[in-house]
Amino acid sequence: MEEVKEAKTEVKAEETKPVEKKKFVKHKQQNKKKVCIFCQDKNAVIDYKDANRLRKFIAEGGKILPSRQTGTCARHQRELTVAIKRARNMALLPFMGE
Ligand SMILES: [Zn+2]
Repeated sequence: MEEVKEAKTEVKAEETKPVEKKKFVKHKQQNKKKVCIFCQDKNAVIDYKDANRLRKFIAEGGKILPSRQTGTCARHQRELTVAIKRARNMALLPFMGE
């Protein structure tokens, strides 16, 4: 009796690996959603004399940081801009390009 060699058809077990979708998120919103600190703190008053607080909202060059960077809402950003400009005139804050 001849052994009939059965052609073993190797069934490749197709390993279905879960394809890990690597998400390369470029410059999308940061994890922490910034909230306007003036809205959070109801006692916070935007005062041009409060140079220390205003300093957080200006860049090193004296530029006013955009609201999307600081998280300030449009309303308070406008008040902030006015306060910073006023503070500049009072020589509490540096002017741009200094
Ligand atoms: Zn606000």
